[in-house]
Amino acid sequence: MIIGRHRNTYATIDLSAIQHNINVERQHMNDGQALFAVVKADAYGHGLVPVAIAAQEAGVDGFCVALIDEAVALREVGITKPILILGITPVQQATYMAKYNLSTAVGDLQFLKEAQVQLEKSHLKLRVHLALDTGMGRIGFRNQKDLSEAIEFLEKYPNEFDYEGIFTHFSTADSSDDTYFEMQLNKFQNLMEVVKKRPKYVHVANSAASIWHKKCGGDLVRLGIGMYGLNPSGKEVDLPEDMQIKPAFSLSSELVAVKKVHAGDSISYGTTYTAEKDEWIGTVPMGYADGWLRRMQGSKVLVEGHECEIVGRICMDQFMIRLPYKMDIGKEVTLIGENNGKIKTAQDAADFAGTIHYEIVCSIAQRVPRFYKK
Ligand SMILES: *Cc1c(COP(=O)(O)O)cnc(C)c1O
Repeated sequence: MIIGRHRNTYATIDLSAIQHNINVERQHMNDGQALFAVVKADAYGHGLVPVAIAAQEAGVDGFCVALIDEAVALREVGITKPILILGITPVQQATYMAKYNLSTAVGDLQFLKEAQVQLEKSHLKLRVHLALDTGMGRIGFRNQKDLSEAIEFLEKYPNEFDYEGIFTHFSTADSSDDTYFEMQLNKFQNLMEVVKKRPKYVHVANSAASIWHKKCGGDLVRLGIGMYGLNPSGKEVDLPEDMQIKPAFSLSSELVAVKKVHAGDSISYGTTYTAEKDEWIGTVPMGYADGWLRRMQGSKVLVEGHECEIVGRICMDQFMIRLPYKMDIGKEVTLIGENNGKIKTAQDAADFAGTIHYEIVCSIAQRVPRFYKK
């Protein structure tokens, strides 16, 4: 992927905000809990390595990723702390993961059986966290029998496996209604009855669970969205008073063309927008290939503190906005962040697009360069 290092459309990542958010979370957590920074998907679009290094400086105890390659990228820059792969990995990669001292989620016995053969041959040991499906319906053991078999198997092969953890994931920890959460917690407690020896890490909490369900505790918190300064619940549930987190992601571009159009002039593909009177139109060098998707047509960006509507179709690399008056080429355009005292948030973009802020920040393409400030 080519990164547009010489363009003027860019994301700015505030690493001090990330460190601040980690400290806020630390204050809020239970004593003795470990904190793992979730940096999957290029650290939710913020940049894997810079975020991981900043998080390490802020004292996190480990990392969570989704892909083996994300974990290896961290090892290659010298990160030696624990790294847990949250998803199911191809069993053919068992020794590769062991070589890099990675921990992986395991959700069935078959995986362990196949991995054991390879690990025995290579004399390597794989760190394992058993995933429990308590109601997310995604990965993991769903009943006591299957779970006991897996634990027995791990205990039978201590040379091949380091049985390091057991965990579950809640599907509604960010909701104002606790009914399903309580059901999942019960299911978790039921499955845990067959766990006679607790592994080092029994863990249940993502950002939302650690913020609003502190009591369910666990030995470690998997902190994702909260670290990036976004409320896991969007606008549904407010953050507690003691959790003043700061968004780390902002996104800017600039005006590269400004023109006066007249009544009847159309803008962009498909003539979906036609000026009804004389108007000033600016062009912004960002498009759907940068992750500002076509569905954002009609949403507003900030220029000189003014809300300016995106008019006409968003093109692959450019879109047009209606300006309140003639503005100079080179004026900063803010899609996410602060502009002359006005603010646009990832939540605003998500509201417009009918999605969640997680998806907005993850969708900003690699070709948009990330600049870091501390
Ligand atoms: C992504 C993920 C997290 C982090 O979730 P946030 O809501 O971003 O805090 C934690 N645990 C698992 C299993 C995940 O997949």
